[in-house]
Amino acid sequence: MEEVETATVASATAAESTEEVTFKSLGVDDALIEACTKMKWSKPSSIQREALPPALEGRDIIGLAETGSGKTGAFALPILQRLLKEPQRLYALVLTPTRELAYQISEQFEALGSGIGVQCAVIVGGIDLTAQSVALAKRPHVIIATPGRLVDHLENTKGFSLRSLKFLVMDEADRILNMDFEIEVDKILKCIPKERTTYLYSATMTKKVKKLQRASVRNAVKVEVSTKYGTVEKLQQSYIFVPQKFMDCYLAFIINELHGNSFIIFCCTCSNTTRTALLLRNLGFSAVPLHGQMSQPKRLGALNKFKAKSHSILVATDVASRGLDIPHVDVVINFDMPTHSKDYIHRVGRTARAGRAGRAINFVSQYGVELFKRIEELIGKKMDAYPTQEAEVLLMQERVMEAQRIARTEVKEFESKKRERDDDDEASQAPSAKLVKRAFDQRSKGRGKGDTKGRGRGRGRGRGR
Ligand code: AMP
Repeated sequence: MEEVETATVASATAAESTEEVTFKSLGVDDALIEACTKMKWSKPSSIQREALPPALEGRDIIGLAETGSGKTGAFALPILQRLLKEPQRLYALVLTPTRELAYQISEQFEALGSGIGVQCAVIVGGIDLTAQSVALAKRPHVIIATPGRLVDHLENTKGFSLRSLKFLVMDEADRILNMDFEIEVDKILKCIPKERTTYLYSATMTKKVKKLQRASVRNAVKVEVSTKYGTVEKLQQSYIFVPQKFMDCYLAFIINELHGNSFIIFCCTCSNTTRTALLLRNLGFSAVPLHGQMSQPKRLGALNKFKAKSHSILVATDVASRGLDIPHVDVVINFDMPTHSKDYIHRVGRTARAGRAGRAINFVSQYGVELFKRIEELIGKKMDAYPTQEAEVLLMQERVMEAQRIARTEVKEFESKKRERDDDDEASQAPSAKLVKRAFDQRSKGRGKGDTKGRGRGRGRGRGR
């Protein structure tokens, strides 16, 4: 595809201007405005104000905006509006980096398109391939996919093609590319018509995104919501210096003290996420873990429990740091400080959403001081210490130690069960030694040429954090 011909820069601050811009004045169809009203979107957000007019004119869009800005509406509304005029199946494809985001986007498409009967299919890893093939065979209007699984279907699902596609959206393009999905994205670009409308949304304009932009959009309009790595006014940020050995005790103390709030606790590894969730449960808190090593149904289950408020604590890796839109999160705790300072912005962005107040508490151990200083530099602000009395906190130490001991045993049991399951799976999939030997002997004799090609799923990306 040719390079960007013109790039008009329209920039807007996240704050809404006072002039009366409505969905109607931007040219959005009444049927869709009705859906917006049902979703309590009374007026367009900044990115929607900037992106909707050129998008409704049919232009390609390069959007610099983060999740939380209303960018899903900015790309979904023009797609749905055109779909209204020219109803067609397999009409739009949205690529997004994570499974959770894919479901979130699909929910918005379905809500906005409820009046026009739009059908969506979410195609992500960790879900049964056959069920997805059936969903694709029904020819939905919109496919929301993670790149790896979509390529799998493009290569292996009989009868599935995207040759009629009219819209391609690449959402969170920087993150898609950072997750090494470049090859998959290239493959997808080769399988879809060149004559299409493309929306490329990214939080940052990296070199890789620029390259993708050259390969995928043309005559684009660039729209931007300046977020400037700032954190919102209503977010109260503080830190606690905690010796590593008392981290669990401080965590229990703070959660107890802020009882009645809902929390996301960020850890850096999947194993610490599981351990911390178990520890908190043993202390009587309703915590669920969410990390990339959980199966997809479990990930969705955990998220739904937290969203439905049946569990007030989500313990998560950075898989939950970007994009998740759960308005009721009151407190974000960085139990492990993020290694990349920019992840801090994404993590704390899970609270203080939609005008609500929120709190971020950073646990800084002797090992996290450098990371913490870098974060303060990035946000250009010195945080206050969260007031605690060590003697008071350590009153919980005995209970916490007991909960730690039980959690350790549970983690061990869980891991040994997992190993057994993995061994069983391997044993049931692995051909017996005899069969392997026979196949090898046959091949040596010049027979056995009929190698069947597998579904190419064995790349074991293990991407989830
Ligand atoms: P997004 O950035 O697309 O993930 O959207 C973040 C949140 O903003 C979602 O909960 C949307 O429902 C909400 N939202 C999007 N557009 C609007 C709007 N114009 N007015 C109010 N809320 C909106």
